[in-house]
Parts: sequence; structure tokens; C-alpha cells
Amino acid sequence: KLENATAKAELGRASWKLFHTMMARFPEEPTADDSLALQTYIQLFARLYPCGDCAAHFRKLLQKYPPQTSSRNAAAGWACFVHNEVNKRLKKEQFDCSKIGDFYDCGCGEEDAKAAK
Ligand code: FAD
Repeated sequence: KLENATAKAELGRASWKLFHTMMARFPEEPTADDSLALQTYIQLFARLYPCGDCAAHFRKLLQKYPPQTSSRNAAAGWACFVHNEVNKRLKKEQFDCSKIGDFYDCGCGEEDAKAAK
């Protein structure tokens, strides 16, 4: 089957959205189990990402820049950095990672407050 660049880009945008939003909701002070869960998620994401060529490139990036999962800031900063590495390879603009704070909002509102009670 022919490659479909539009579908590939659409998948990429949807995936990055989930990826960064997940980092933005990762605990500020994760337990060891939280950090392990995120490590495992990232490794499986890189293994199972449906565009095989993209996944292979991404696995190389993970080897060079191991996922940072010690805190929300570390994880979000790391994800922004590796996405920028992909942007570089695809000759896209660099994203200003200092702006990542309020850019990714899951829209889940009160959920955390409820869970904490
Ligand atoms: P995207 O890169 O999809 O970004 C979406 C939005 O996220 C941007 O509009 C911007 O608002 C924001 N953003 C941009 N940079 C950052 C950042 N550093 N941190 C946080 N937010 C940011 N495509 C290929 O053709 N070849 C590949 O090898 C390839 N590998 C990929 C590997 C992975 C793991 C993923 C998830 C996607 C890959 N893609 C690949 C798809 C590619 O990265 C883009 O998603 C796609 O080309 C659409 O690009 P876009 O310009 O719409 O912006």
C-alpha cells in the first residue's frame, strides 16, 4: 500500500498531543511505581507506535536521551526535548519548551481534587 503522508502526520499530531498531555498530568512528586509506569509506557509506545519507521527512529532517540521520569517537570521537559529532536530531523520549527507549562490541558478539571479526597 502507498504511503499516506496526511494520515501519518495526523497520527503524529494525535500521538504527540496525548504524549505531552500525559506528561503534564504526571505527578509532581511521583512514587517509584509511578516513575516505573511512565518508563514502561514510553518504552512500549516506542515499540508499538504504528509507523514503524518513526518508531525505529524514536527508539534510537530514547537510547541517546533516556526518559526522565523523576518528576512532572523532568518528564515534560524531556518529552519537549525529544519532540524537538524529531522536529529537527523533519526540518520543522523548534518549540519553546519554557512555554510547555500551560500549553497542554487535559480538560479534566476537578478530577484530581476528587481523587485526593
Ligand atoms: P507535530 O510535530 O505533530 O506537533 C503538533 C503540535 O505540538 C505542534 O503544532 C505544536 O503546537 C506542538 N509542538 C511542536 N513541537 C513540540 C515540542 N517539542 N514539545 C511540545 N509540543 C510541541 N513523521 C515522519 O514523517 N517521519 C518520522 O520519522 C516521524 N517520527 C515520529 C515519531 C514519533 C514518536 C511521533 C509521535 C511522530 C512522528 N512523526 C514522524 C510525525 C511528526 O512528528 C509530526 O507529528 C507530523 O509530521 C505532523 O507535524 P506537525 O507540524 O503538525 O506538528
